[in-house]
Amino acid sequence: MATQTQDDVDDAVPGREWASALYRQSTDQFDRAAELLELDPEFVTRLSEPRRSIVVNFPVRLDSGGVLGLTGYRVQHTLTMGPTKGGFRYGPDVSLGECSALAMWMTWKCALLGLPYGGAKGGVRCTPAQLSVHELERLTRRYAAELIPVIGPDRDIPAPDMATGEREMAWFMDTYSQMVGHSVFEVVTGKPVVLGGTTGRREATGLGVVYVIEAMCEKIGMDLREARVAIQGFGNVGAVAASELHAIGARVVAVSDHSAGVVDADGLDIAALARWTAQNGVLEGYPGATQVGPRDVLEVPCEIVIPAARERQITAENAPRLQCQVVVEAANGPTTPEAEAILHERGILIVPDVLANAGGVTVSYFEWVQDHQRYSWDELDVQERLRRQLRAAFGRVIDAADRLGCDWRMAALSVAIERVSQAARMRGIYP
Ligand code: NAD
Repeated sequence: MATQTQDDVDDAVPGREWASALYRQSTDQFDRAAELLELDPEFVTRLSEPRRSIVVNFPVRLDSGGVLGLTGYRVQHTLTMGPTKGGFRYGPDVSLGECSALAMWMTWKCALLGLPYGGAKGGVRCTPAQLSVHELERLTRRYAAELIPVIGPDRDIPAPDMATGEREMAWFMDTYSQMVGHSVFEVVTGKPVVLGGTTGRREATGLGVVYVIEAMCEKIGMDLREARVAIQGFGNVGAVAASELHAIGARVVAVSDHSAGVVDADGLDIAALARWTAQNGVLEGYPGATQVGPRDVLEVPCEIVIPAARERQITAENAPRLQCQVVVEAANGPTTPEAEAILHERGILIVPDVLANAGGVTVSYFEWVQDHQRYSWDELDVQERLRRQLRAAFGRVIDAADRLGCDWRMAALSVAIERVSQAARMRGIYP
């Protein structure tokens, strides 16, 4: 009889294809919500693993003439709700497990907001800072070409995420359009306005974070204009949230990027910080405030902490030191399950990622609708619809929390899981 090796044992573990700490975090949340809902085991099985995953290995010609071999991913979590939707990111840690977790969260986010999409996520494992603009363009175009069999305006619609933005979306859209022989603006969202992008998309996630905070403050009786806020991450999401909060009178006492954190208990000058980063690339060296480490800003005394940088930043190690009333998860998956238990114990509320950062995908949906209609909305229209849609979602979360007697994360996931499992039940199983 053949001896069983460790490899055989590892291969036998269900879901091992997608294994990662982040994937366990997303499935742990799903399992807890499914238990709370007493979800039919059929739907636990059907929703706990991604429906479709693609891994692509491809060469990119470097400016030096050499070739770089890269790995890219696209994961589609559920095909039940319509086409799939989710960003793609570039970074040295991008993996199938990371994309799988993020795709599952996209499903819940879209369902909570009532958008006609399942969740997806993708990315390329690379170090974008070490690549020239020409190399990034060749990388993006080749990644788009590799994904042609699974993407399309009615199949899967990518969008920006970490280290990707309007420029990459324009290249992606152009590559797809070249392949099918005509312009297809609606194959990606987050494009430049002149190429079928929508006004207000760039600011949407950060602005959405602020709309959700306003609704949350009304609910718990917090005066936002009296509140102190600390923000980790000063990119697309964090910088917009910081300047909007500053504009409405909240005191932003700390912000950070990957280089450094800056703290001023009297309130930071956000416009000056934005000018500094535009000139210097990073926050490090900013002369107008006390410098701390990038993660230290999470522990500054304040009412609201906004992680807006990366996954798994609030952990069992630093959770006991947070000095705030509420954590508003602008980043995806910033709180580990162990940290969440500690925050819960300490009475610190969490506004979950699937609600707090849903402004991005909501305005992406508006962009896709406008592209299909060949008709553009103005900025006020976009912002007003965004505000209405996020406040309605916040209301659904509060109602579910009351109905189920649970925290806001479980409430948000429950609303989403109920919606998706109901749709799956009604569609049945083919054949
Ligand atoms: P970005 O690349 O524009 O900015 C990320 C910021 O985080 C940068 O300032 C970077 O320096 C900083 N950062 C990275 N590592 C850090 C660390 N260890 N400590 C402190 N700062 C650090 O990315 P983004 O688009 O702003 O996305 C931020 C988060 O929001 C991600 O989790 C992303 O998935 C999520 N998100 C983004 C959107 C969107 O529309 N851009 C939508 C939904 C969710």
